[in-house]
Amino acid sequence: MGVETADPGMERLAGARLTVDLAALAANWRLIADRVAPAECGAAVKGDGYGIGIGHAVTTLAQAGCRTFFVALPEEGIRARKAVPDARIFVLNGLIPGIGGDLLAHGLVPVLGSRGEIAEWRELAGRLGRPLPAAIHIDTGMNRLGLREAEAEALAGEPDALAGIETVLVMSHLACASEPDHPLNARQAAAFGRIRELFPGIAGSLANSAGTFLGAAFCHDLVRPGIALYGGAALDEHLAANPMRSVVRLDARILQVRDVPAGEGVGYGSAETAARDSRVAIVATGYADGYHRRAGSSDARKGAYGLVGGRKAPIIGRVSMDLIALDVTGIDGPEPRRGDWATLVGEDPTVDAVARCAETIGYELLTSLGTRYHRHYLPFSP
Ligand SMILES: *Cc1c(COP(=O)(O)O)cnc(C)c1O
Repeated sequence: MGVETADPGMERLAGARLTVDLAALAANWRLIADRVAPAECGAAVKGDGYGIGIGHAVTTLAQAGCRTFFVALPEEGIRARKAVPDARIFVLNGLIPGIGGDLLAHGLVPVLGSRGEIAEWRELAGRLGRPLPAAIHIDTGMNRLGLREAEAEALAGEPDALAGIETVLVMSHLACASEPDHPLNARQAAAFGRIRELFPGIAGSLANSAGTFLGAAFCHDLVRPGIALYGGAALDEHLAANPMRSVVRLDARILQVRDVPAGEGVGYGSAETAARDSRVAIVATGYADGYHRRAGSSDARKGAYGLVGGRKAPIIGRVSMDLIALDVTGIDGPEPRRGDWATLVGEDPTVDAVARCAETIGYELLTSLGTRYHRHYLPFSP
């Protein structure tokens, strides 16, 4: 986590390389910001900026115009704060007992999701003799963090319940926004509308990336996109035609190109048998780099593919810790050579396509990408 600068001279030693297109990140933020206006567009940068490095993510997004960031952990907030001295940073996981002073020291605003957290924040405000800013999280149907609707109503009915707290945001989170037709979306939107009336004059926030695609009624005052900024598909129907620009490319070095006679198995477990006399390129990345083992291939179940010389090369056999075998038999163009690069994630195949082969989602793939890559950042100039 957090390997944000690699010695450029070390690229030649690297097995695999991540290229992070910061201009694409900025363009993705602007696309959503334009679409949701007049609502403000914030950014979720948890999970080390969805794997790209939180410092780079926050710096670039701030240059693009983003003023409000959401992290999961206080530690992420502290790292984000170093990159943006004046932005608003909300800590979605809220107030862990006893850490209020740490949040204040770094100007981090907790998202309070329980009566216990609210009581602790009020108590700290009382001790310090000044109001302390916070967001209030309402659970409108996800059953994860946040006050239940009835608790929120009770809270709003008690005149002093939020005394000492400067409530700057009322928020909720959608459970099924990636499926636009899911009935829970409308139920959560209606519940959030009711709750907001209980807290008049306070900004509201409901939409993640997918929520911003569900229409203006979901956008309220502030939206919190994450995955779409990093090029991932927000809606399930975007898996094929995603409007966002690809941000992360993963290339791995070809270590060998070898012959595998028909009928011989490739890799651990001899899980996939060469159906014909084959040419196989062995590339230097694997599950230790967060390329999911489940994306591998077997006789029973075909896996993901990479691109070699711009041509599709399916994985043959299991993904190892450090190595993947790509079937390059008969691909067009020049014969692949030791030292060439193969693309495993990028514009093609997309992070979502590879994730689907691994029976997971683009979010998990991005946030799994490990620390062994040579990381190369394509700059954004505002
Ligand atoms: C992660 C998260 C987001 C961003 O979600 P995406 O689906 O990545 O856009 C927004 N709000 C909350 C509360 C989150 O946990």
